[in-house]
Amino acid sequence: MKKRVNQREVTAQRPEPLRPGRASWCGELQLGQLLVPVKAFPAVQSCVGIQLCQVHAGCGRRIEQPKRCPQHGLLEPHEVGKAFAYSADEIVELHPSDLQGISPVDDKKIVLSQFIGAMSLDLTLLAGRSLQLAPSHAAAGPIYATIVAALTKAAKWGVGTVVFSGKRSLVVVRPESSRLVLHTLHSPRLLYAPPDAMNTVNGVTRESVTHVCKMIEQNSRPIKWDDLEDESEDRLIELVNARICRPTLVKEKSKCPVRRISASQPSRRTRPATAKAA
Ligand SMILES: [Zn+2]
Repeated sequence: MKKRVNQREVTAQRPEPLRPGRASWCGELQLGQLLVPVKAFPAVQSCVGIQLCQVHAGCGRRIEQPKRCPQHGLLEPHEVGKAFAYSADEIVELHPSDLQGISPVDDKKIVLSQFIGAMSLDLTLLAGRSLQLAPSHAAAGPIYATIVAALTKAAKWGVGTVVFSGKRSLVVVRPESSRLVLHTLHSPRLLYAPPDAMNTVNGVTRESVTHVCKMIEQNSRPIKWDDLEDESEDRLIELVNARICRPTLVKEKSKCPVRRISASQPSRRTRPATAKAA
């Protein structure tokens, strides 16, 4: 189906980097005895990129759920194609060859092309996916170890790209002890500008800074992650276990037949084993 795509052009949706977003949280920040009210602004704009919709391949009508063309009825999976939703009632059908031509070539390679000082990355850019990179086989060990040693000695992290699930991702790779860890990154283009309220340095005295530094120094020690853990999940598990194993419903308490939910299930957040003790 031919679609009108004349004078109006489709442009990439690039979010404005200038205006800060709306505050998503209001509260206070405590630092020792200091209490400062703060607002939290999103630091990164979510960006889903260009989304294609599904159509009846060759016919071009947008398909319905279950996969159904309003004109031709139910469709087999091989009859479903892709299209660009140009407007509410106009779609541009794309053929597999079209998409092949514009998709990034997945060479299964993490390309580290630039290097930055360790810890000098703006952590706001972390996109939330972290992967441990291990050598594929023993023979790859020495080269892997060389890369780890070199990055460690230079105190650098590598920045580059990789194709994940058909999409090019920005990544940073850093040495962690004797291994390499990869983190996916947001594009810096997605960063919001800081709110004006953050740009003030008025009222800072050397004494007040020294006072806070002292408190920070006194409280600097290996982190006790358990102290920071959210216990609501544990409470929920207790609650559920109490409900499914209520003594009034079971004649002999010791013969409670129902399965119990364990708190040590892998769905819980993991934390560094070294920090567990203390
Ligand atoms: Zn159709």
